[in-house]
Amino acid sequence: MSEISAAEALKQKLFIEHKNGVLRADDSTIAAAEEFAKGYKEFLNNSKTEREAAKSAIEIAKKAGFSEFVRGKKYKAGDKYFINNRGKAVALVNVGKTPCEQGVRITAAHIDSPRLDLKPNPLYEELELALFKTHYYGGIRKYQWTAVPLALHGVFAKKDGTVQEVSIGENENEPCFVVNDLLPHLATEQAKRTLAEAIKGEELNVLVGSYPFKDDKESELVKLNILKILNEKYGVTEADFLSAELECVPAFKARDIGFDASLIGSYGQDDRVCAYPAIMAAVNTPMPNHTLVTILADKEEIGSEGNTGLNSAFLKYIIEDIAENEGANYREVLKNSKCLSADVNAATDPTFQDVMERKNAAYLNYGVVITKYTGARGKSGTSDASAEYVGFVRQMLDNANIAWQTGELGKVDAGGGGTVAMYIANLGVDVVDLGVPVLSMHAPFETTAKFDVYMAYLAMKEFAQ
Ligand code: MN
Ligand code: MN
Repeated sequence: MSEISAAEALKQKLFIEHKNGVLRADDSTIAAAEEFAKGYKEFLNNSKTEREAAKSAIEIAKKAGFSEFVRGKKYKAGDKYFINNRGKAVALVNVGKTPCEQGVRITAAHIDSPRLDLKPNPLYEELELALFKTHYYGGIRKYQWTAVPLALHGVFAKKDGTVQEVSIGENENEPCFVVNDLLPHLATEQAKRTLAEAIKGEELNVLVGSYPFKDDKESELVKLNILKILNEKYGVTEADFLSAELECVPAFKARDIGFDASLIGSYGQDDRVCAYPAIMAAVNTPMPNHTLVTILADKEEIGSEGNTGLNSAFLKYIIEDIAENEGANYREVLKNSKCLSADVNAATDPTFQDVMERKNAAYLNYGVVITKYTGARGKSGTSDASAEYVGFVRQMLDNANIAWQTGELGKVDAGGGGTVAMYIANLGVDVVDLGVPVLSMHAPFETTAKFDVYMAYLAMKEFAQ
């Protein structure tokens, strides 16, 4: 038996321990992470858009006994309800044992993801091919969205007030769509463009058909044939695109990655990789101490604007309703409330390490990431959590033996980004970002580690107690 040196003993006492979480996890934890990933992948496949994710969340919540919020109804500890904000954002509320004036616990994730939205007048014909014009949503690297199979999801809201849902391209027996790119043989000029401009916004045109309607005189016969199909299938005309929300998303399903199947590859993991654990934490916490509010927000990828985004009164009014139910002062409730802004951070990529500052970067399999601040150019545009609140979260995670790490979104001045944290902080709530590290964030196929996803769930469940 060898004795450790005085220096080694002192190091163990004083140095921060930074270690792969899987190394410390027992087999049952790894098995539980594997099991959790199954439900998560199913959620991803059923939730390609904010509307579908909202619907999935409500379905899961209803099965767990949540019912729709009824104004005027008296809620008591143990009651569970959901609030559906226009089918695009959802709140789940678990009424807790403690009076809400002592604060509620808020977990806020977002369910919108980067994609290609159809323009209001999208359909056109060129060289006897039919295409859709798109306007990308969120921060995408445009070149990544060419030559991959795309599905079309969303709704037509018709003039008669009915809403026609659309989902085509997910099943293998359905057609899908594609944005075409140049062949390398003829890309000499295009190859001189910068990467940001390699594919321009107006070049993200989606191929949707080629058969002409049989006629010898008329023009635009391919476009006509597509409209004929759409009219038969959905009862729409070209004008119905004007009041539609149709989104092109990658058509592939969530898959395991690696010989060891330790990773998950999928579209839309930012931020459904936090939304799903947040939903599961809510449904698996029947009687929380503090009232738990789980927010699944829309519009985060374009700045949280709009009435389904978190820079709206949506959350504030939910807290007001919770306060009103108990005859409490809602400003007091907000002041004492705590929030996890559940969003992803960038994992360090072995191939692109130089954008990270290694001592403050997040790594796959190191567990859930705490991000004290996001922002850019000297912390601009972040709420920057207080030392005291980070201390609270740190203690909570360590006491529950949950693998966690800290992360910063890349090197200082390498770029930056933001989350919903600052909008919740603006309400006077303590908030810090907590989430899952992701490789290829905002790409059509993003990578996460099953272990980290499960640690995010355990963290949110602990927070909900
Ligand atoms: Mn996000
Ligand atoms: Mn994002």
